[in-house]
Amino acid sequence: MKYISTRGHTDRKQFCEILLEGLAPDGGLYLPEHYPQVDAATLATWRGLPYADLAFEILSLYIDDIPPADLKALCRKTYTRDVFGTEAIVPLKTLEAGMHLEALSNGPTLAFKDMAMQLLGNLFEYELGRRGEELNILGATSGDTGSAAEYAMKGKHGMRVFMLSPNGRMSPFQQAQMFSLMDENIHNLVVDGVFDDCQDIVKAVSNDLAFKRQYRIGTVNSINWARLLAQVVYYFAGYFQSGAEKVSFAVPSGNFGNICAGHVARMMGLPIEQLVLATNENDVLDEFFRTGVYRVRASADTHETSSPSMDISKASNFERFVFDLLGRDGERVKSLFDDQLKATARFDLSGDAAFQAARTKYGFVSGKSSHADRLATIRDTWSRFGLMVDTHTADGLKVAREYLQPGVPMIVLETALPIKFAATIVEALGREPERPAKFAGMEALPRRVKLIAADASVVKAFIAGNCA
Ligand SMILES: *Cc1c(COP(=O)(O)O)cnc(C)c1O
Repeated sequence: MKYISTRGHTDRKQFCEILLEGLAPDGGLYLPEHYPQVDAATLATWRGLPYADLAFEILSLYIDDIPPADLKALCRKTYTRDVFGTEAIVPLKTLEAGMHLEALSNGPTLAFKDMAMQLLGNLFEYELGRRGEELNILGATSGDTGSAAEYAMKGKHGMRVFMLSPNGRMSPFQQAQMFSLMDENIHNLVVDGVFDDCQDIVKAVSNDLAFKRQYRIGTVNSINWARLLAQVVYYFAGYFQSGAEKVSFAVPSGNFGNICAGHVARMMGLPIEQLVLATNENDVLDEFFRTGVYRVRASADTHETSSPSMDISKASNFERFVFDLLGRDGERVKSLFDDQLKATARFDLSGDAAFQAARTKYGFVSGKSSHADRLATIRDTWSRFGLMVDTHTADGLKVAREYLQPGVPMIVLETALPIKFAATIVEALGREPERPAKFAGMEALPRRVKLIAADASVVKAFIAGNCA
């Protein structure tokens, strides 16, 4: 399998070449040059596999440059009961007939990002070891990504993590989770500023090409193809557990990474009827799927909500879907994302025949959920099923109910556990969420964190000083 860019540059690359890269050189995102097809007979043979072996089967269709025995060992090392809490790894919980939750949040940081990041940590360590190289991962987080990256990379050879987060913006649980890590290769930098300041610093450091090269700076953001590929696996696992012939998935969405993996699974032939995209008040994507207009928001128009991991102004993975939607016309994608978005912060496909295909051919439908919806859904799910859901999952559940179809089970992806967003649970239910035993007393642990000014030169000096 070779990889191409959504903006049409034709330098085809192997998996391990793009593993440690972010954007393609032309500014596009990497995608496989075709989607391997999985027929009914293959599906039947995969049905009974343990999760790690299912992951190996799917990954091996996309990875030619890691020997199969090594790839299998990496999958088995990643997806264990020890790390993810159950033998099923992503167990299905039935709420009522035809309505399930797929639990993706039982990894080390209690959000679905562990599903991909844990694999990425092992892939990075393997590939860096093979090359005899090191990597310094620089990132900005408003919560779930940073902790998932740190727990995946801590203690790994050849890697350091420098993670910027905005002072006081993460939930107390998220802060405690990250800042209590004592591993020497993990550095938490709390920036006196907001999330956008953190992102600007990462951009400024990455744009200094000499610094980037000298200090081997890399990223683990959601545009990384390996992360997306790892996520494809749980769509298959959810489908198998449902026992149905066809299912729909509802996905709480922000950067379009999670649901893009569902799109890939569907393109491979997994019988998915609908991909139900749920947004919060930041409804960039809902607006596109309803109207055909993609309109990037300014920072000032990006709402701070009670499902903060979906608070986005633009969806960084969305270009991958648009590439497929427009018949993989890289020139057209380049003109939309490079020229039009830069000039006007929007593009409009409403008059394009291809836009209709988003629903008819690709199965996408969408909806949005507000703070009031979130509270109501958390209350309803608790009172009827005795189950506590987190705020993001509640957005997914709310929108899922708008698209139920007789005879097609709906699987809502549970993207985090309620303990990560306790304040809203208390607001909805008047009680604290359950806390898994291993997190008891975490907020009282000693912290390893450095408060810095919102200044790229300070971050550069810190990195230089910690790369002895
Ligand atoms: C990251 C995240 C999302 C959004 O996922 P995308 O891949 O950005 O669409 C939703 N819920 C939770 C809890 C998350 O951490």
